[in-house]
Order: sequence, then structure tokens, then C-alpha cells
Amino acid sequence: MEITIGTSRLVLVQGDITRADTEAIVNAANASLLGGGGVDGAIHRAGGPKILEACKAIVARQGRCPTGEAVVTPGGDLKAKYVIHTVGPVWSGGNRGERELLAKAYRNSLVVARQKKIRSVAYPSISTGAYRFPIEEAARIALGTVRDSLEENAMAEVRFVLFCASDLRVYENALSERN
Ligand code: ADP
Repeated sequence: MEITIGTSRLVLVQGDITRADTEAIVNAANASLLGGGGVDGAIHRAGGPKILEACKAIVARQGRCPTGEAVVTPGGDLKAKYVIHTVGPVWSGGNRGERELLAKAYRNSLVVARQKKIRSVAYPSISTGAYRFPIEEAARIALGTVRDSLEENAMAEVRFVLFCASDLRVYENALSERN
């Protein structure tokens, strides 16, 4: 599924984000930036040790990455030239600012991308795995935040790469709702 927002494309596909050919891919990292399970582990495995080295240098310089913030490293062996690491919120019932923090993670990833003049970005579904954010609501926040950002500032393409068919369906439904 694909829509256009001004001159930007917003695309939803099913797949493995480590194989995406966008200029940058976004990693659903944790605050340590030292890698973990899920999509984080997959990105470090596919991209090789250069990514972890760069993450360690960032942590040495500025400490852990707070929830909602984003940092950029090279993509190592990935097709993508850059990895933007952002930290989504852990869902703990919805009363701890989780929704705003998730929006912030999506927004700040695009801020970092624009600082690097990156023109295409692929996102996974941040926080909806180990961090247990309910995916229907996460999809609405993800798509709403990215749309708002693209309305202000165009980019060639933002792609959501959903790992399984049911997640893709949830994102497609959320995108159709607002069209
Ligand atoms: P979080 O800790 O932010 O919840 P997870 O990695 O546990 O992050 O899960 C986030 C989403 O990433 C989940 O929907 C999971 O299915 C998905 N995911 C896992 N591996 C990949 C991959 N290689 N490509 C795209 N999405 C992936």
C-alpha cells in the first residue's frame, strides 16, 4: 500500500528491514545502544561490528540514549548507508506518557535523518514487540506522526517494513482510516 503526501511517498510493505534499500533504516534500540533481541539483534547481525563500534562511541561521548531520542551510525554491511537508532517506550498501561514518547521516537528519527540529508527511511514497528505497545494504537501514532512530519518537510520516501502479514494488515487499516 502506498500514498503520497505532497511530494513524499509513504509506503507499507511486509518484509525484513535488514534488507531494505532505503538510505537509512531505523532500529528499535534500547537505551544502552548495545544491541538486543528482535529487530535490534537482526540489524546488528546483518550489519556487522561497525554498527556496534559506532554505538559504543556515541555512548562514551554522550551516555545512554533516552526514550524518544535518536542517534545515527553508519550501516556497516547493510544496503542502507545509515542506521538511525531510536528508543521507543516500554508499554506499562498507557499512563506513563507512552503515546507521546512513541510519537517522539518517530519524529526524532526523521529529525536526525534530515540533519544527514537522508532522503529515504525505513521503519520497523517500534515498541510493539518486546516492549508490548498495543499495535493498533502504535500504528495510528506511527503513521500520524510520520504524515504530520512529511507535511511540514518532504522526503522522497518513508517506508514501514512490517515483519509479518498481520502487522502489515494493522498498519494498512490504520492508514485507510485516515484517508
Ligand atoms: P521493541 O523492543 O521496540 O518492542 P522488537 O524488536 O521486540 O522491538 O519488536 C519490534 C517489531 O519489530 C516487532 O513487530 C517485530 O516483529 C519486528 N521485527 C523483528 N525482526 C524484524 C526484522 N528483521 N525486520 C522488520 N521487523 C522486525
